[in-house]
Amino acid sequence: MNKRTNGIIIAIDGPSGAGKSTVARLLADRLGYRQIDTGAMYRAAALLIAQAGIDPGDLSTLESFCQKLDISLVHVDGRQAVIANGSDVTDRIRTPEMSLLTSRISTLKPVRDALLKSQRMMGVGGGVVLEGRDIGTVVFPDAELKFYLSASAEERGRRRCEELSEKGEQVTLVDTIADVVKRDLQDSGRDLAPLRQAEDAIAIDSSHLTVEDVLDKMEHLYKEIIKATGTAL
Ligand code: C5P
Repeated sequence: MNKRTNGIIIAIDGPSGAGKSTVARLLADRLGYRQIDTGAMYRAAALLIAQAGIDPGDLSTLESFCQKLDISLVHVDGRQAVIANGSDVTDRIRTPEMSLLTSRISTLKPVRDALLKSQRMMGVGGGVVLEGRDIGTVVFPDAELKFYLSASAEERGRRRCEELSEKGEQVTLVDTIADVVKRDLQDSGRDLAPLRQAEDAIAIDSSHLTVEDVLDKMEHLYKEIIKATGTAL
């Protein structure tokens, strides 16, 4: 039975700062799809675990805490808000400290199991653009369209530094590039659901491409898939 009643599943994976969030949001807008930012869900989980003072090494406490996590992504005035256990944590989860903490807690099985379950429930009906690290390999290996979006570490660090400076964060380019590289190593070196390109993913290097270029390429491939499979637009 085809469970995709709302359209296909589009997976966008790749390292931090490759532009996944911007591209996923704009692609979802173009197609009338829903964007699911799984990184924001891991960030929210990290914040809640830190706030609750849970020792990440205490796996049984962590497991029962994660089973009760309530993280949702809602759209308010064209912007995605992250609601974690009833509070809007959208801005609080975007600091450099939270990025590194998230990268650490996302190596833990109780955290991944809980979020994997909710991501599958959110996306299974299709009509979604999911972005993250393991969407095409673990969350939805059967996604109809998979992309692996990357860019050089220097370019990703530059973009991240610009983004954080605009928000008033005191950061330097050198430190931001170092954080990006550190997160790459943590995300691709872990045992569970490491960052890697799915065999059937289409690789796009965004280092020298504009956002519009990337979107046009993705939309073109989406239309090809729809034409080939006869799935309703
Ligand atoms: O995408 P973003 O940079 O917000 O993700 C924050 C962190 O969450 C990543 O560095 C990674 O450790 C973790 N993550 C993950 N699996 C995903 C999405 C994010 O492990 N699907």
